[in-house]
Amino acid sequence: MTDNKFVYEFSEGDASMRNLLGGKGANLAEMTGLGMPVPEGFCITTEACTQYYVDGETINDSIKAEILEYIAKLEATTGKKFGDPGNPLLVSVRSGSRASMPGMMDTILNLGMNDTVVEAFAAKTNNPRFAYDSYRRFIQMYSDVVMEVGKSYFEELIDEMKESRGVKQDVELTADDLKELATEFKAQYKSKIGADFPSDPVEQLFGAIKAVFRSWDNPRAVYYRRMNDIPSDWGTAVNVQSMVFGNMGDTSGTGVAFSRNPATGDKGLYGEFLMNAQGEDVVAGIRTPETIDQLKDENPDVYAQFVTIVDKLENHYHDMQDMEFTIEEGKLFMLQTRNGKRTAAAAFKIACDLVDEGQITQEQAVRMIDPKQIDALLHPQFNQADLKAAVPIGKGLPASPGAACGKAVFTAEHAAAMGKQGEDVILVRLETTPEDIEGMHHAKGILTARGGMTSHAAVVARGMGTCCVSGLGEISFGPGGKSFTLGGKTFNEGDWISLDGTSGAVYGEKIATVPADVSGYFGRVIEWADAFRTMKVRTNADTPADARQARAFGAEGIGLCRTEHMFFETDRIAAIREMIVSKTVEQREAALAKLLPMQRGDFEGIYEAMEGFPVTIRLLDPPLHEFLPTDEDDIVALAAEMNLDLDELKEIISSLHEFNPMMGHRGCRLDVTYPEIGAMQTRAIIEAAVNVQKAHPEWKVVPEIMIPLVGEVKELAFVKNIVTSTADAIIAESGIALEYLVGTMIEIPRAAITADEIAKEAQFFSFGTNDLTQMTFGFSRDDAGKFLDAYYATKIYESDPFARLDTVGVGKLMKTAVELGKSTRPDIKLGICGEHGGDPSSIEFCQTLGLNYVSCSPFRVPVARLAAAQAALKAK
Ligand code: PEP
Ligand code: MG
Repeated sequence: MTDNKFVYEFSEGDASMRNLLGGKGANLAEMTGLGMPVPEGFCITTEACTQYYVDGETINDSIKAEILEYIAKLEATTGKKFGDPGNPLLVSVRSGSRASMPGMMDTILNLGMNDTVVEAFAAKTNNPRFAYDSYRRFIQMYSDVVMEVGKSYFEELIDEMKESRGVKQDVELTADDLKELATEFKAQYKSKIGADFPSDPVEQLFGAIKAVFRSWDNPRAVYYRRMNDIPSDWGTAVNVQSMVFGNMGDTSGTGVAFSRNPATGDKGLYGEFLMNAQGEDVVAGIRTPETIDQLKDENPDVYAQFVTIVDKLENHYHDMQDMEFTIEEGKLFMLQTRNGKRTAAAAFKIACDLVDEGQITQEQAVRMIDPKQIDALLHPQFNQADLKAAVPIGKGLPASPGAACGKAVFTAEHAAAMGKQGEDVILVRLETTPEDIEGMHHAKGILTARGGMTSHAAVVARGMGTCCVSGLGEISFGPGGKSFTLGGKTFNEGDWISLDGTSGAVYGEKIATVPADVSGYFGRVIEWADAFRTMKVRTNADTPADARQARAFGAEGIGLCRTEHMFFETDRIAAIREMIVSKTVEQREAALAKLLPMQRGDFEGIYEAMEGFPVTIRLLDPPLHEFLPTDEDDIVALAAEMNLDLDELKEIISSLHEFNPMMGHRGCRLDVTYPEIGAMQTRAIIEAAVNVQKAHPEWKVVPEIMIPLVGEVKELAFVKNIVTSTADAIIAESGIALEYLVGTMIEIPRAAITADEIAKEAQFFSFGTNDLTQMTFGFSRDDAGKFLDAYYATKIYESDPFARLDTVGVGKLMKTAVELGKSTRPDIKLGICGEHGGDPSSIEFCQTLGLNYVSCSPFRVPVARLAAAQAALKAK
């Protein structure tokens, strides 16, 4: 037990105490300090919540005593008393963590009510209807939130009552009806819980506080935290506040309002209110609220006072505010203010407007936008009206953002064929393989039953900017893979489905999409961000088209060109297959000679697109069997083409099978066994660079040749020798002085811990954190999705290490590699090209390591530009 202070009156705190008081508590304290009308109350700190878990989910005696002391203080300031029939104190109990976590827990209102208090309250307010309405609401909320009985039982009782009285609206029920309802509610409670509804306000209060603490760990909250990078040890605060009533009659009311439009960002008050109603009625949709400007007619004085407060709050917080208020018998009370959630488009407009209004600096504008929101601006989205009417039938991993709608197809060939005819298709597969690339290109969206956030489907879809939902294990395919079942419905080829790659939701129907909206506000903020950034942002691009797209998004070079992706185009796969099944070096070289002009052409296109910015090209990485046909027809065709006996070819294919392909014959191991592959690729890289350099003397083309999957300096030296001997000969012949670099990926733990050795041969390191994560954890990047959910549920992991860098383990290896690498070669160039290079929290870690650049898929480039600026500002 500590001697910390665990409870603060609002008047004791301010906005700077957010970590301790939570967002809601700190802002209530700040508004109190600003002299605004805030009902009195106190805040139980986030540390009390942490202590509750340390103490085995109990509130310890000293914290209990402190809370009781603050109840006594509240009784003194309000002149009311818990359970006092003369003048009862009623309170609200609300959660409030450091970061807003909408929907984590419902509020409990009217706490302190019991059979005696309600009578007294009815007499005191001279309004029995109001008193019983408050009582039945309390029983309902307490049963639902604290005891988890469930709302529906109570709603059924209300519906039955309305039906028996022949009325439609809750407000038409009389005081007697509501009194009867309260009795029915208590009976319902007893039947479900097996005990009487607690009548002691102190017992009610501790029940409610515990429920808030407990809610910190409910599955919704755990999921929300994982999605939003909120650590589980932050805890939530609890705000206990004296009640004010919006349902005291026609001069009372309650509402919510934003100081600017959260959907568009337009300046001006935006919100809704209801007279004679309490908190949840506004959002519950039982009655239709009025728009906030109508409050002017209802009560001009309150409206004017509210407008003044809103202006004051915006000017104070320098951001759009989201506020809750209550009017009790004509008197205004502020119940909450916070920086409002907003759409991506609104976020950029508001930031620019605040700068133009002189409220904030460009630096503050850059700091205030969540980089993760940018994705939404760069991809198509669902039409909101259509989306509201739709119900998801399943949820997978949000592998690549945006929305897509199309006819389901089950093979890449069909996707390509239909896509070419202008049809919108969604490719649905168990998982994708490199062979599916063309179909993936022509699909509006990709849905897979297997695979995690760095599975083939996820990585390729993100690269192409195509919406993708992966790892939806509930999908079961029908006979021959010609249909699938999800959410109890069977889909045949041609049936419409829709995907939300941002949330992972799948819909079994057609939902219209609207194109991305990249307005001028976005460009302004991103440009401001660039001025604060110290790390460069490069892109992972495999084709000239991707490279051009990335340049348009502001990429300052290519950090990873995966050359294997070029081999899957229909006109090339034959040549690479020929190379693989070759029996002699001569045969292999003949096949490689066919590939050379194609690779050279690709590289020329990429250098052209990059206009003199650096281009890192990686030598072939995947295991060779990935290129071989699996369909009988394709195998027969290859045998004919290669003049091979069918059985012989099948034998070759099965000899290439590996039990553990990710740890098998891939990466630089391919060049150790087949040096002619590395030689051909180097030739293509250097010849292309020479050609483009000659065509554009104004650029400085400096290819960076990257050797993958190195674990031992000697294997790097071996492959490097193939590269340099080939490159130097071509350059000598070219008549120009082309510079080039040779470096390696750091993606095997052994490379990281021997980086001082590796750096003797490498002019740059690029962290391949996909493989480094896989190898460090010892679990597969393609299959980990199967068990990671259990790890989140048991809180062993808080996030997917393939999406958010594990800074503790993998990060330690990276830090070691940076230090060792620099000890050998102080000016070594350092970058990251794993998927983490586009993840804001991982980018922040890269800043602390002192990396020169991050590299990510084209559509993440703007995200990375903003995240890198924020990381630099944080490090200042
Ligand atoms: C990596 O391993 O992080 C990487 C970028 O390479 P790949 O994803 O192609 O294995
Ligand atoms: Mg790798």
